[in-house]
Amino acid sequence: MSDTLACAGHGTGIVDRAEGIHRVREDPGWRESPDTPEIVINRGYCKKCGICISICPADVYAAGPDGSPQVVEPDRCIWCERCEIYCPDFAIQLLGDKAW
Ligand code: SF4
Ligand code: SF4
Repeated sequence: MSDTLACAGHGTGIVDRAEGIHRVREDPGWRESPDTPEIVINRGYCKKCGICISICPADVYAAGPDGSPQVVEPDRCIWCERCEIYCPDFAIQLLGDKAW
């Protein structure tokens, strides 16, 4: 079951209430290149540690007003998977068919 929400700071997203979690997609319409993934941040898991922001070599993320990561430069993503791998709370998913 899912529905949409307007969330201040996160824009309009999709909330998946399955398994009791809130899963906010970062503007699913931004994808301009198939070489970049769709970045999904599970706000219910994220503890705003900032690791993903500091570890990303392409400056895809920036901290929002509350310290949570915002996807500000999605087209710069080189799909290195560091954010997904190093997030201690498994809050980031990179979706899409990687071509390499
Ligand atoms: S590394 Fe994970 S828990 Fe930390 S700010 Fe990023 S998404 Fe949130
Ligand atoms: S996959 Fe790599 S380049 Fe893309 S957002 Fe994550 S850390 Fe940054």
